Amino acid sequence: MKVESVRGMRDILPEEAPRWQKLEQEIRAAFALYGYGEIRVPLVERAELFSRGVGEETEVVEKQMYVFPDRKGLPLALRPEATASVVRAYIEHGLHATGDLAKLYYLGPMFRYEKPQLGRQRQFHQYGVEAIGSLDPALDAEVMDVAAYLMEKLGLDRKRLTLRLNTIGCRKDREPYREALRRHFLPQQADLCPDCRRRLEENPLRILDCKQPQCQSAIAAAPKSLDHVCEACREHFTQVQEFVQALGIRYTLDPTLVRGLDYYTRTVFELCAEDLGAQDALLGGGRYDDLVELLGGPPAPAVGFAGGMERLVLVLSGQGAPPGAAEPALEVYLVPIGSDAKREGAKLLASLRRHGISADTDYMGRSLRKTMQIAGRSARYAAILGPDELARGEIKLKDLASGEEKAIGLAQFTADPHTFIG
Ligand code: AMP
Repeated sequence: MKVESVRGMRDILPEEAPRWQKLEQEIRAAFALYGYGEIRVPLVERAELFSRGVGEETEVVEKQMYVFPDRKGLPLALRPEATASVVRAYIEHGLHATGDLAKLYYLGPMFRYEKPQLGRQRQFHQYGVEAIGSLDPALDAEVMDVAAYLMEKLGLDRKRLTLRLNTIGCRKDREPYREALRRHFLPQQADLCPDCRRRLEENPLRILDCKQPQCQSAIAAAPKSLDHVCEACREHFTQVQEFVQALGIRYTLDPTLVRGLDYYTRTVFELCAEDLGAQDALLGGGRYDDLVELLGGPPAPAVGFAGGMERLVLVLSGQGAPPGAAEPALEVYLVPIGSDAKREGAKLLASLRRHGISADTDYMGRSLRKTMQIAGRSARYAAILGPDELARGEIKLKDLASGEEKAIGLAQFTADPHTFIG
C-alpha cells in the first residue's frame, strides 16, 4: 500500500530547493547585517509553553496546535511558532545576564492544524527576529526596517506591499479596551458571524480581524485601540512612527490590526502583499513586553516579527523571478567508455570533488548517446574517457555550451583541474 504525505505538509523537491536555499541565504545575510545571531530551538516543546505564552484562548493554541503525550504522558507540542521557544531559551540560558539586548533570529518549520489552501499549510516555514531587552521605540522601527530591507533585497515590488501599523497598548489598557469593544458589539451581536458572536464572549479583540462581510460595518465603527491606550503607550507609538518615517518606510495606520497571539503589547504590524489573495500577510510582528516575565524570566520588553517562507516563494514566483536552478547544476559530467575507463573515471571523479569541482557520472548503464544528452542538460563540461584516450593517458574535455573540445593529459587534469575549468 502506498503511504502518502500528511495533508497540509509538503515535500520541497530538488528542483525547488535552489530557490529555497537562495531565500534562506538572503534572509540570513539580512539578519546578520542588522546584528542578529541565529538561535536554533527544538521543534518539540512542552505544550504549556504555548498555552501560557501564546495564550490559552487563541485559535493557534485552542484549535491548531499538535499536542500529544510522550511515552511518560508529558504533554508535548509541535511548535506552532517560535517566539515562545526563543524566549524560553533566553530565560533558560540566562541570555539576559549580559545586561545587553539579545538579538536573535531563527528559520525553520512550524506546525498548525489549519485548513490547507494556497499559502496556508500545516507544516510551513517561518523566518523571524526577536530583539529582547529594550523598550526603545527606535528598536520597533529597526525591526520593521530589517523586514523592509529583506523585501527590497529579494526584489519585491514596493508598490505592491503594504505595511499596516497599530498599537494595542499595554496589559493594563487591554481590559478597558475589551470592555469598550464588548459595549460596542453587544447591541449588534445578531448581525455578527457565529465565530464573532463567540469571540464577543471570549476575546472581542479577535472580532476586529474577522474577514466575514457581514461583520465589516460593525468593525469599521468599532472603538479604536489608539483612543483607549494610556499616555505612555500613546507616546511610544508616536515615537515609533517618527522613527519609521525617518527610515523612509511607507505604512498605513490600521486601527483594526490586532494579531492572533495574546502576547502582543503596544506596537503591532503586518506586511501584506497584493499578489497573495486571501492569505495576504507576508509577515507580522510587534512588541511583547510581558512575555519574558510571564514565562518566568526577568522583566525584559521585546519586539520581533515572523514571516512565512511559502508566501515569499509564492510572491516571488508571481513576479516572474527566475527560478534558482537556471544554471547547470554540475561543472563536469564524466562519460567513461568501457570498464577500464570506468575505474580510472571513478578516481578522476573523486579527485575533481576534492578540488571543489562538482562532478557526476552515469550509474544507470545508459548508452553513450543518452549519457551525452544527460551531460548536456546537467553540466558545463563533459569529460570523455574512452579506450583511445586511456591508451594515450588523456581525457577529452568538451565545453557543452560551445561544443569546443580539447585533449588534456589525464595526470595533469587530475592534479590541477582548475586550470582547465574556467
Ligand atoms: P503568525 O505567527 O501567525 O504571526 O504568522 C506570521 C507569518 O507566518 C504570516 O504572516 C504568514 O506569512 C506565515 N504563516 C502563518 N501561518 C501559516 C500557515 N499555516 N501556512 C503558511 N504560512 C503561515
